[in-house]
Amino acid sequence: MYERIRREAAGANRLLAEYGLVILAWGNGSAIDREAAVVAIKPSGLPCGEAAPENMVIVDLAGRVVEGELRPSSDTATHLVLYQAFPEIGGVVHTHSSAATAWAQAGRALPVLGTTHADTFYGPVPCTPPLTGEDAGEDYEKRTGEIILRTFSGLSPSAVPAALVGGHGPFAWGKDALAAAENALILEEVAKTAALTLSIAPLTPPLNSSLLDRHYFRKHGARATYGQKREG
Ligand SMILES: [Zn+2]
Repeated sequence: MYERIRREAAGANRLLAEYGLVILAWGNGSAIDREAAVVAIKPSGLPCGEAAPENMVIVDLAGRVVEGELRPSSDTATHLVLYQAFPEIGGVVHTHSSAATAWAQAGRALPVLGTTHADTFYGPVPCTPPLTGEDAGEDYEKRTGEIILRTFSGLSPSAVPAALVGGHGPFAWGKDALAAAENALILEEVAKTAALTLSIAPLTPPLNSSLLDRHYFRKHGARATYGQKREG
């Protein structure tokens, strides 16, 4: 059962490996079926490149396994917190991709330095504080989701479809799991370029707001003009 989300989640996990965002099993991707209130997610420990529709684990929104022999990803609780708080998203991915993780480890939000960033993220990609004390203990993965929500308060998850978890790494999401994987790839590229920019000119200011608006709204929203018009 749940073929669509099995296919989507497996495809997103394989893309993470193909894009070079995940080595070994250092990441995970999932897709949600809102009607059935279940999520397909990679099993714990399975390399992303080996994800297939039949080995995805189906869990309900409380994290209970509905279908599958294997244990779901250890980060499942983080995915579930994001799905519950952000009703507009259909897929979530997590990676330890180098450049985005470097920003997370530095505890720095990723600033908008150019139009490449503005094409996808309408503002800085926020970085949460690192989890400490009790939060890093029991329910750690749930707390990771909650600290993303706290850092995101007032921000639209559609306008900024990713977050950096301080001391850890990036989570990205999208309208479906494939879009989430693509956003993780764009995040990595933008993180790399921003680090290069600041190594050349450490005081580079943020992109001005007219260019941010111009580029973001060219691709998003009712007046988007990028790409081809749909026929019919
Ligand atoms: Zn992780």
